[in-house]
Amino acid sequence: MSPVIPIRSATSEACAPDITTERGQREVFCGLTGIIWLHRKIQDAFFLVVGSRTCAHLIQSAAGVMIFAEPRFGTAIIDERDLAGLADCNEELDKIVADLLERRPDIKLLFLVGSCPSEVIKLDLSRAAYRLSTQYGQNGGVKVLNYSGSGIETTFTQGEDACLAALVPTLKSTETEQKKLLVVGTLADVVEDQFRSLFGKMGLTDVDFFPPRRSTQLPTVGPGTVFLLAQPFLADTARALENLGAKHLPAPFPLGAQGTTAWLAEAARAFGVTNEVFEAAIDAPRKRAVQAISKHRPELQDKKIFFFPDSQLEIPLARFLHHELGMHLAEVGTPYVHRKHLDADLNQLPANTRVVEGQDVEMQLDRCRAANPDLVVCGLGLANPLEAEGFTTKWAIELVFTPIQGYEQAGDLAGLFSRPLIRRLKLVA
Ligand code: SF4
Repeated sequence: MSPVIPIRSATSEACAPDITTERGQREVFCGLTGIIWLHRKIQDAFFLVVGSRTCAHLIQSAAGVMIFAEPRFGTAIIDERDLAGLADCNEELDKIVADLLERRPDIKLLFLVGSCPSEVIKLDLSRAAYRLSTQYGQNGGVKVLNYSGSGIETTFTQGEDACLAALVPTLKSTETEQKKLLVVGTLADVVEDQFRSLFGKMGLTDVDFFPPRRSTQLPTVGPGTVFLLAQPFLADTARALENLGAKHLPAPFPLGAQGTTAWLAEAARAFGVTNEVFEAAIDAPRKRAVQAISKHRPELQDKKIFFFPDSQLEIPLARFLHHELGMHLAEVGTPYVHRKHLDADLNQLPANTRVVEGQDVEMQLDRCRAANPDLVVCGLGLANPLEAEGFTTKWAIELVFTPIQGYEQAGDLAGLFSRPLIRRLKLVA
């Protein structure tokens, strides 16, 4: 029985495009944004932003849909008076946490999330987390951790990386060499269930997802752990897992039918699943994905797309849109390129693709105007001005809020790009 050979993977010979680096003014959200999808995933966690009213507004407006739900995030506001003394700030924080934990006994994991203001006044949240953990963490009580979501240190999706990297040291390490699979990166529950079912059909039952749905279900990690990244923005988390002995499986990200197949195939290969078993497991969902994607081809084929850097998903998305929908890539801007994690996707872009890491927003806007793309993927701040200039835009943030990974979501993912074009056609008709 032969092991699975996937479609072209990280190890295949390929001619990746050159990456140009730009440093200048940036137009991106800060890492607080990650709270919006992280709080939905880890259901017994609470995210307490230690920040200003601006920070509170950012997460409340980004999470407008939460109005009808009991939220699992909040902001401890640093007022001007707090600037007078750090001792008062710590006292105030302790009081807020005491009130919160009394009111919400369901909280098992509390993140103190740093912001620009807390960093500017040098409030040491790691010491605060340690102090509060000692106070509330006895006998399986509340675990208190901290990370930074500040715009000084993090962009949009790096908040998730910082959060998960803070969580890794709390994972139990195991000495066992027995192989197990860990899928790393926040996935919607429905996507997680689909992947678990596909892995099960391949005979892989020892599979954990990180982050889990509850903080009490944290996976163990050891030398037998191999992990697949489900998101391309988890450099620090991957490094922390590797420090515990886990091994990263380089693979394209599971976007579209091809990306999902290649991603699953890397796991299949690592666990010695045969081609027959692998094909039997993926055959039906892959066909459904290909068919769902093809419905969007008429709108997207031969259209030109331009990515401003935002979510770090840009390179895998460009690969999907080029190979599975026939789009032309005018420019692929991305905040940061982690070569080891992104090579498998990068190697599949046409060699002459302009890939730009970082941002000089004015120069990029000039290039965008000159390229005159049919569709521009960008942050909210740039979308309105570009629409006013006549461009059709797609908000990058939606790509992180929407379940897009895996076979069953491949059609929806294509739809996120075809819909703005259809809407534009209707507007001009
Ligand atoms: Fe603004 Fe910084 Fe607060 Fe983010 S963390 S909302 S960039 S002040």
